[in-house]
Amino acid sequence: MVVSIQDLSFHYSKNRTAVLDIPQWSLQSREQVFLHGPSGTGKSTLLNLLAGILLPSAGTIDILGKRINTLNGRQRDSWRARHIGVVFQQFNLIYYLSALDNIRLAALFGGTVNATSRASELLQALGIDTALHQQPAGQLSIGQQQRVAIARALINQPELLIVDEPTSALDARNRDVFMALLLDQVRLHQTALVFVSHDLALANTFSRVEAIADINRAGGIH
Ligand code: ADP
Repeated sequence: MVVSIQDLSFHYSKNRTAVLDIPQWSLQSREQVFLHGPSGTGKSTLLNLLAGILLPSAGTIDILGKRINTLNGRQRDSWRARHIGVVFQQFNLIYYLSALDNIRLAALFGGTVNATSRASELLQALGIDTALHQQPAGQLSIGQQQRVAIARALINQPELLIVDEPTSALDARNRDVFMALLLDQVRLHQTALVFVSHDLALANTFSRVEAIADINRAGGIH
């Protein structure tokens, strides 16, 4: 089991009602789930909880059998670097570092040694030519930056990849190419994936498709 949620409740501050109220939810290894719902319904909040960036107000989240709220902040950062790949809407690349160095830095945090050749292979597999590997990330197009962010998220061979609405800045053709490349990599490395979007057009390549409203009793209304 990669993710197991029980009786999860989350609110941003004590005197506000819950953004999330999820009695039960789980994800098996190698499973890829497409989670959709309108904005403001708690999708990003859930991803931040899965990544251990936020902690539950009540209930439990186990990732790979580990109850992440039992770790302190520093332990969570280190654990996340080794086991979870995260791609947020803003890719959080370091713009003055090259594409390759952004990935090598993640490898350093995740304890992956000799990552340079694997980083190059990943970039290549994601359609970034060698000529661009040494370019500062800030000089790449949005589509290229997205691929660098995916390569960075995969460099430590995480068991779980979390991707938040990554295609909103892409046109339809680039979006389809990006999705195909992403899913190729995830299936090749047998990574479990939680992919969040409001764009149902992307759902058809996933075997498991869920509306956040079906798992979240709070429905984001508060
Ligand atoms: P989605 O990803 O589906 O758009 P979010 O998880 O971002 O939804 O937001 C769910 C609800 O929580 C929204 O009502 C939003 O305003 C609120 N929210 C999100 N982030 C914060 C925050 N840092 N502090 C307070 N409220 C927040």
